[in-house]
Amino acid sequence: QVTAEGKRVFVTAGASGIGRATALAFREAGARVHICDVDTRALAAMAELGIGVSRADVSSSREMDPVFSDIEAKWGGLDVLVNNAGIAGPTKLVEDITDAEWDATVAVNINGAFYCVRRAVPMMKRQKSGAIINISSTAGRIGMPMRTPYSTTKYAVRGLTDVLAIELGSHNIRVNAVLPGLIDGPRGKRVVDEQADAKGIDRQAYLAAMLHNISLHALISMEEVAAMVLYLGSDWAKHISGQSFGVCGNFESY
Ligand code: NAD
Repeated sequence: QVTAEGKRVFVTAGASGIGRATALAFREAGARVHICDVDTRALAAMAELGIGVSRADVSSSREMDPVFSDIEAKWGGLDVLVNNAGIAGPTKLVEDITDAEWDATVAVNINGAFYCVRRAVPMMKRQKSGAIINISSTAGRIGMPMRTPYSTTKYAVRGLTDVLAIELGSHNIRVNAVLPGLIDGPRGKRVVDEQADAKGIDRQAYLAAMLHNISLHALISMEEVAAMVLYLGSDWAKHISGQSFGVCGNFESY
């Protein structure tokens, strides 16, 4: 049985999608869970389920720093940080991407993870334990055409994972990455539609081609991703660090 009994867990962008599934999986496993998000209505719904919530944008250290101060005041430490927030960015040829589109994707997908790590690590070092799970993507292992900012930042998330696993290992802080594939949900559908449109091909045909490129020929559920994150945050994974795990049905190519 994978348990997270007594663990103090913070999930970014935890009000919907994979973040929400992850927050609920940890809570189900006995953890105390706090999330941040920018969607106030979705946050209110999570608060009703007994999850701690903060309205904060991960791309702003000014907004994130008080969240960590609150967590420290409330719990005295943090056992698991899940850097889940990530935006898909533009679907464009590289030469058409604007400065603002590039900067916005970097700000959420890379800066956001850094701001959280910077505040979580001192707490974890003090208690001599911790687990950080960074949500990358198959696009962080296989280049995703028409999505240069997204794919580049998702590779960076794996880079952050690898370097921190080495730097923090002697403090008993584990750092791993999870790479979701094509997810059965609104965002997965939107990404498929946008990619098909950008390539000028039929959406169903593009989805069929994607499924053909997945060895197990299936879409992934958010709960499957959440189960991997829960495992990596649990003590069953106490000797697992510096690894990147695809939850993707073995995604072969875009
Ligand atoms: P999503 O698009 O469903 O969004 C989840 C939440 O993120 C929303 O509640 C939104 O309000 C919040 N959010 C957006 N920007 C934010 C910000 N700046 N600060 C705080 N919260 C913010 O996301 P998802 O599809 O569940 O994806 C979660 C993670 O998984 C992302 O890092 C994403 O790149 C990755 N991923 C998703 C898929 C997929 O197909 N869904 C595939 C691979 C990787």
